[in-house]
Amino acid sequence: MTENKINPPRVRIAPSPTGPFHWGTARTAVFNWLFARKHGGVFVVRIEDTDRERSEKRYETSIFEGLKWLGLDWDEGSLDPETLEEKTQGSFGPYRQSERTEIYKRYLEKLLTEEKAYYCYCTKEELEGERQGMMADGLAPKYSGHCRNLSAPPVGKEPQIIRFKTPEIKIEFKDVIRGSISFDTTLFGDFPIAKNTETPLFHFAVVVDDHLMEISHVIRGEDHIPNTPKQMLIGKALGFSEPLYAHLPLVLGQSREKLSKRYLSVSLTDYKNMGYLSEAVINFTSFLGWHPKENEEILTPEEIIKRFDLKRVQKGGAIFNEEKLLWLNAQHIHRLTPEDLEKKLRSFIVARGPMSIPSETFHRLVTLEQPRMITLNDFFEATDFFFSIEN
Ligand code: GLU
Repeated sequence: MTENKINPPRVRIAPSPTGPFHWGTARTAVFNWLFARKHGGVFVVRIEDTDRERSEKRYETSIFEGLKWLGLDWDEGSLDPETLEEKTQGSFGPYRQSERTEIYKRYLEKLLTEEKAYYCYCTKEELEGERQGMMADGLAPKYSGHCRNLSAPPVGKEPQIIRFKTPEIKIEFKDVIRGSISFDTTLFGDFPIAKNTETPLFHFAVVVDDHLMEISHVIRGEDHIPNTPKQMLIGKALGFSEPLYAHLPLVLGQSREKLSKRYLSVSLTDYKNMGYLSEAVINFTSFLGWHPKENEEILTPEEIIKRFDLKRVQKGGAIFNEEKLLWLNAQHIHRLTPEDLEKKLRSFIVARGPMSIPSETFHRLVTLEQPRMITLNDFFEATDFFFSIEN
């Protein structure tokens, strides 16, 4: 199956609301959105809030606000892309995993009945003892399979977790970006898929959702490659057909080090408040792992959609260069018509509080400052003097 045969594609971003809308989520969102828009497909936003303790509503809000600011309009998701209000669910929803418990339960029960999954009664202490023992013997630790074939629940013990019966096979998939990738599943052991039938774990919920939401292409970060074979095994056991996978390169710092936490904890809407344009951020983000064939640098979202090609995404890490972001921001500001720039500045003015300035003066100041501006904030720094007089 090639990507062109699926028409129209259905893609998704599946952020966990455990932090604000940061660069990592934005990059995955941009690539999925570009792919969907390029091929007339559907872009789904699914909130993966199975981790109830770490998931917070304010982070979900940050994700949707960030997407809206960037203009990454979604076709399906729990909020309305225009109003950010709770949406009546469509045929594939709900799009919050916490609201889909009954759905996962059905599939978990199916696997348990078919003996493709089982309850594990081993306690944390027993598992830790087993792990230490394997390591002492020089073995890579994995679950021993102790509860795999129990004929009856052990007396006086409570079920701790539901495990998947991992078949020992070689599993292979053809990544759209990376080509063939294979894994030996003997290394996995019987991995957990749910705490109980009401509490699925990450891998299980992802597989059920991708199937029911008819996701054709799973486009996500390279860090998810090791999850793919486990998810494929679950999908096979449930009789689902496989989506195509495309794993995007890691985003690295300037010296190819892991991107610092700072970038993964700052919300992208902070960049909005610092005077960045959404089109510059889209331009910058789309270049985190992809470049157009021609050596073009400054492109509008529409131009990027036209040129975007998932198969041309690079395999090697993408370097995050904040100076480049500033440069692109300046270029996008300089390319705006003075009228458009004025519009953008006016929304900033609202955020800065009341300020009166005759339209004509404002227009003259904008024209004067535009070629020097790197961020929208520069305008106010350069012209504060005028504003203080007018105020
Ligand atoms: N919820 C996962 C994350 O936030 C994404 C899962 C996926 O894309 O398959 O990293």
